[in-house]
Amino acid sequence: MKVTRFAPSPSGRLHLGHAYSAVVGHARARASGGAFRIRIEDLDPGRCRPEFVDGIYEDLDWLGLRFDGEPIVQSERTALYGDALERLKAAGLVYACFCTRAEIAQSLTAPHGDAGTQYPGTCRPLPDSPEKRATTPHCWRLDSGKALELAGLPSWTESDGTRFDGKLGDFGDAILARKDAPSSYHLACVVDDAASDVNLVVRGKDLRPSTPTQRLLQILLDLPEPSYLHHPLVMHADGRRLAKRDLAPTLAAMRDSGVDGTALAAQLLEGRVPLGFQLSEA
Ligand code: GLU
Repeated sequence: MKVTRFAPSPSGRLHLGHAYSAVVGHARARASGGAFRIRIEDLDPGRCRPEFVDGIYEDLDWLGLRFDGEPIVQSERTALYGDALERLKAAGLVYACFCTRAEIAQSLTAPHGDAGTQYPGTCRPLPDSPEKRATTPHCWRLDSGKALELAGLPSWTESDGTRFDGKLGDFGDAILARKDAPSSYHLACVVDDAASDVNLVVRGKDLRPSTPTQRLLQILLDLPEPSYLHHPLVMHADGRRLAKRDLAPTLAAMRDSGVDGTALAAQLLEGRVPLGFQLSEA
């Protein structure tokens, strides 16, 4: 039995790429007699809006995708992420970092696309200073060197059975939390996947660079290992990515223009996308 989840961030209306991800996750759950869960990844108060949360439920309903159980809302679960962070701190695997505000700001949402440059470790050797922490914005980073020493190099399995071994270069000192935000995307994701018994993580290939770090956190926190389905991405036919900020039509706009949501879901499940789009393995 597969328990999958669809975990959008309510920072805009959903588009075709979200629909594809939800359709695949839903189908995997239903085909195995498992469960399809919804998680609202609303940890970034600067970008998330309640009307977009409502939009997520409307869009799923229009696609004909029913979810199981109560939705998980991350902004209501911050104490759990705090507990996980405390465990990692107690194990000596975390340090305070006072660098790069922009990167720290981004850590609350999933890093779609390339993993980007890795943090050079500037603050890693600093002695802990509660005085400095009390007055200076900072985040908490995983000391990936120490973590890998303890956990070994993690591996993971894709749903087709392919096993991937993490390489040293896959792991940066990921941000786990910041002074004014109790969790980053990575930490909340592993805590919630485990808490909702997710055993198949269905998400786009653009989130694959997140998987080694998340597997490492699962090992450190004694959380069960899910398998992964990193699916192809829906792109514009000309190869551009769909992004909330470009002119990708939202599902709401498609609905308003008379598209049948359940027919669209059936079409996506067969791997067919509407004219003007493509499914890209890249
Ligand atoms: N919240 C992420 C998104 O907006 C998904 C993260 C995940 O599936 O792990 O796509």
